[in-house]
Amino acid sequence: GKVLVTGANGFIALWVVKTFLEKGFSVRGTVRSEAKVHHLKETFKSFGDKLEVVVVEDITKDGAFDEAVKGIDAIEHTASPFHFNATDPQELIVPAVAGTVGVLKSALKYGTNVKRITVLSSCAAVLEVLPNPKNFSEEDWAKAAIQEIEEKGKEASVSSTYRASKTLAEKAAWDFVKEHKGELKWDLVVLNPPYVFGPTLHEVASVSSLNTSSSHWYQFVLEQVAGNDFLASEGSCYVDVRDLALAHVYALEKEAAAGNRFIVCAAAFKWQDIVNSARKFTTVSAGNLTYKPENAVHMITYDTSKAAKILGMKYLSLDETTKAILDDFKEKGFWP
Ligand code: NDP
Repeated sequence: GKVLVTGANGFIALWVVKTFLEKGFSVRGTVRSEAKVHHLKETFKSFGDKLEVVVVEDITKDGAFDEAVKGIDAIEHTASPFHFNATDPQELIVPAVAGTVGVLKSALKYGTNVKRITVLSSCAAVLEVLPNPKNFSEEDWAKAAIQEIEEKGKEASVSSTYRASKTLAEKAAWDFVKEHKGELKWDLVVLNPPYVFGPTLHEVASVSSLNTSSSHWYQFVLEQVAGNDFLASEGSCYVDVRDLALAHVYALEKEAAAGNRFIVCAAAFKWQDIVNSARKFTTVSAGNLTYKPENAVHMITYDTSKAAKILGMKYLSLDETTKAILDDFKEKGFWP
């Protein structure tokens, strides 16, 4: 089969491309400019013409993916902005929503062989910031973020902006499927990962050009820019990028995945947990010496039973993820 991966030059996407190629699929990746073709072709040159890279300059343009979906059996839509630099929420929301709907529209019109589309959403489309701890599931939606954008516009926080972009994009995908029920030869699967950490395969010239989640990891774990209170009290949930890439393959292979969203999450963490893990493999400041993992309160956790049951998800350990990141940073000369 042949799989289309949108935004193929991204941090997660390179692992998705690699995993599908290793499973024997052919891959067509889309990138925004000719300059982004070379690194992909070079990285996967051992797969020869099993990897094709095409340019889709503007994913928000009507019919942007019309050509790209032709002859494709399945689609992995990963292209979407993930950064906290927007001055206007629409900078994120427009490409997130129009890109997602655009892929689905093109698949409806020209994707005659397409059987399944996987949209890479996020736990950002699930979580809400609440006063008490909550274990979130696939039933939950980040409605408050959308509301904040509606109420505050440009004054909305950058994290709400990102959450709203992912929530609106995912909702638009499910709405599209509902509206076109009966016309579709494909079904939809959505993956909702929390923070995605792991070694990089994409083109990263320097520490300052790391993708957002890798950059946070670098700053909080290695540089410890936020201080010791932060390390012990702040954290999130994470999944290894290699496990998330496998989830994309399972999402295509498992018939029963159809029509479902899946939270794909390894564990909750405080940044100090990762510092402690990193100290097993490299020299890093000790961070918070009073931190006790057994006393940590995780405000946001996820019910991961659905992905375990239907996709068969299993997860690498925190040490495996940490070690792979440090090996990668060492090889790149980013950390000794
Ligand atoms: P990257 O920044 O490495 O990749 C983002 C990809 O999306 C790139 O190919 C990028 O292209 C493309 N993209 C960004 N903005 C636009 C735009 N306006 N128009 C067209 N393409 C665009 O990030 P990740 O790999 O981390 O993110 C990939 C996906 O995973 C996103 O959908 C993100 O929301 C989701 N995700 C990521 C998490 C994480 O922790 N990393 C957590 C949960 C979800 P270009 O290089 O040309 O800008």
